[in-house]
Amino acid sequence: MPSSKILAVPLNYQGVYPCPVCRVGKIRDMHLMEAMACDFCHEIFTVNLEQQQLKMPSRQPPLIWRWNGLNWTETQLEGVELGWGYALGAAAFVLFPTIIIGIVAYNFPLDPHAPVTWLPSIWTCLTFLVHFSIIVWLLIEIYQIPLGAYWRGIIRWREVRATVTNARNFQGNGVIRNGE
Ligand SMILES: [Zn+2]
Repeated sequence: MPSSKILAVPLNYQGVYPCPVCRVGKIRDMHLMEAMACDFCHEIFTVNLEQQQLKMPSRQPPLIWRWNGLNWTETQLEGVELGWGYALGAAAFVLFPTIIIGIVAYNFPLDPHAPVTWLPSIWTCLTFLVHFSIIVWLLIEIYQIPLGAYWRGIIRWREVRATVTNARNFQGNGVIRNGE
């Protein structure tokens, strides 16, 4: 059952919290360890109670979430703050070289009889595509972990369910399946 939305609960080792990675499982403390683990995607987290933070050390730089009493917020890479500065930087990284090469290609056209007159325009397109794909790759690097963990969780869940189903079938025909 969903927990009460009225009472904000601080992050502590006794609590059970939604998993910020797969958003399906619940995380709870691992016995005798200052860490928490998800029962669905099996991701392991270290806990900073003072700052109410959860860290996922299985990737570098680690992903960090802050618990606000109800939800995980302020997702960030440790030591990296993704803000408008980064968005502007990414746009400049893609547009600036493309524009410069485009201007050069436009202002200094090749001899129309040269064998490679298409080269400047292709070069401009390639500049855009390569720089754009670097940004996309960086975004995937940041966001692929939740997707990857989610799919690993789905696969494990299916395996466990198959094992349980097989065990039930093995136990005999007298088992009556309860409705959900
Ligand atoms: Zn999880």
